[in-house]
Amino acid sequence: MSATQTMPATNQSTTAPMTAADGAVIRVEEVHKYYELGETRVHALRGVSVDIQRGEFVAIMGASGSGKSTFMNILGCLDKPSAGRYLLEGIDVSQHDKKALAVIRNQKIGFVFQGFNLLARTTALENTELPTLYTKIDKNERKKRAEEALSMVGLADRTEHFPSQMSGGQQQRVAIARALVNRPSILLADEPTGNLDSRTSVEIMEIFQGLNNKGLTIVLVTHEHDISQFAKRVLIFRDGKIRKDEPVLRRPRAEEVLKTLPTLED
Ligand code: ADP
Ligand code: MG
Repeated sequence: MSATQTMPATNQSTTAPMTAADGAVIRVEEVHKYYELGETRVHALRGVSVDIQRGEFVAIMGASGSGKSTFMNILGCLDKPSAGRYLLEGIDVSQHDKKALAVIRNQKIGFVFQGFNLLARTTALENTELPTLYTKIDKNERKKRAEEALSMVGLADRTEHFPSQMSGGQQQRVAIARALVNRPSILLADEPTGNLDSRTSVEIMEIFQGLNNKGLTIVLVTHEHDISQFAKRVLIFRDGKIRKDEPVLRRPRAEEVLKTLPTLED
């Protein structure tokens, strides 16, 4: 990010001058989203406002159809609000066109989905390198970064494995490495444990807590209450609005929880 990009002119009451480091990473202001389906119009988000600071770990919960994925797609610059504003690191991206959104997305966002979305005939290392192909990073540096990202998720010894040679949990870890390889400002994860057993899900939360401890901002959608409690803050969506926004009070450490869970033998 260049130093010339301007911060929003809000928060003028603060005494210290604002820098990129102390604004909200995510600022969503009165966002609405409509989907047009033939004659009908679905009002998926109905006035959502929220600030997320750097270093937060937010879980999003809510019934199916409450707007969670729509919200995540907007945060991840995969889609635009129909009304309202979205500021990502102080930059208003709500009016960016598709191409500009794609650039921002590749630089600032790591996305992890429920299905791991790995390329089947491609090794863990090559899958992880994919997002760097759209950057100016040279070949050696790409490989180095991909190896680093894989070791951050505990897969340093699996670089040459293909997806079919890995468990679901390992595949999801490759997907996390791929999301991290461009060193994003935010990690967004939409039900990343939806296809995983409970122990593997907690292993994924252990990785998320570790990344968050190093300062990465994380927003996670889950339908499991137990999983939401590994975050620091929980937002509950209902009918396209945020109905609750609460801190997690007794937050378990995934590392400790794992000690109490049986390991599954194949
Ligand atoms: P959640 O992730 O909480 O299950 P979604 O954000 O996927 O909710 O959906 C919110 C509402 O928007 C639902 O009523 C859903 O049917 C509708 N919706 C989501 N995506 C689309 C789309 N691409 N086209 C039309 N309607 C959509
Ligand atoms: Mg969803």
